Amino acid sequence: MHPRELGSTYANRPSMSLSGPSAASARESAVPDAHAGVPLLARIGNTPLLRLDRVGSNFSNIEFCAKAEWFNPGGSVKDRPALSMIQAGLASGTLKPGKTIIDATSGNTGIAYAMIGAALSYPVKLCLPDSASHERKRILAAYGAELVITPGDEGTDGAIRKVHEIVAAKPDKYFYADQYSNPANWQAHYRTTANEIWEQTSGRITHFVAGLGTSGTFVGTTRRLKELNPQIHCASLQPDASFHGLEGWKHMETAIRPAIYDDRLADENLPVSTEEAYRLVKRLAREGGLLVSPSSAAALLGCFAVAGRIPKQQHAVMVTVFADSASKYLNERFWDED
Ligand code: PMP
Repeated sequence: MHPRELGSTYANRPSMSLSGPSAASARESAVPDAHAGVPLLARIGNTPLLRLDRVGSNFSNIEFCAKAEWFNPGGSVKDRPALSMIQAGLASGTLKPGKTIIDATSGNTGIAYAMIGAALSYPVKLCLPDSASHERKRILAAYGAELVITPGDEGTDGAIRKVHEIVAAKPDKYFYADQYSNPANWQAHYRTTANEIWEQTSGRITHFVAGLGTSGTFVGTTRRLKELNPQIHCASLQPDASFHGLEGWKHMETAIRPAIYDDRLADENLPVSTEEAYRLVKRLAREGGLLVSPSSAAALLGCFAVAGRIPKQQHAVMVTVFADSASKYLNERFWDED
């Protein structure tokens, strides 16, 4: 495969083994790149850092910012780890032509696998709970992924058990990306998300706040940010109950704990309410022009909780991650409720 197909986001980072000519090096090289335009997968990462002036105006001492992850071509933050895990599989030879990419996912990672698999001509098979939204299933099917639907009341844990069954029956047929245990998940954020935040705040970031799903975003970004400046305060967020509406997040005490999760990293770990997140989703849309997902609003609620404990005379630059936009959640009932 030509590195051009894999995209420059990862190829231009020296730590990636699959490095190839980046846009910058192509410009510098004597042989000009004859191809116009940019490959789809090169648009993964380098998302804008949005300044949230109005919604955070109660806290005059704090600059709130969010990585707008719906700018990724698959529409969510999960494009980053999905690409990273697929690249790691290709580099190690565990993913090769003839194999099918398989994983358990309630949606965003699946969409990312489906998009990247289609772009690289690898079949994709996904186990997902019946409770996943209709739009998500339609998007996955549109990319040509094969869906194995598991009981909704078992959540993603039921989907994980199903993948284990399928892979155990035919281990040679599948590349099991295993986003909950694959270090290439958090490493994507270590290499990209964290360094982008550092550059986009000119090293001024003082606080990082993110929700826990697989935990890849929080673990990878925090590990790198703490290397860049150990003083950066890092807060992880979880739903406040095992049954919740924060799609993409996990209630760690009651769920299967992801192997990549390291609970020693966070300076604090805060609970967030689904109902409050739903209210903030609507407020962000109507007062900020920001059409974001419940998990994004929940991340901002976590920021407000952290901000409430910072003394007024202390200036802070607080960054969070808006994992995706509202587009896959527009059929949720909360939009019509008070
Ligand atoms: N929000 C949404 C909407 C997600 O799909 C995910 C991924 N599960 C997350 C947040 C959490 O990201 P991570 O898996 O990196 O913890």
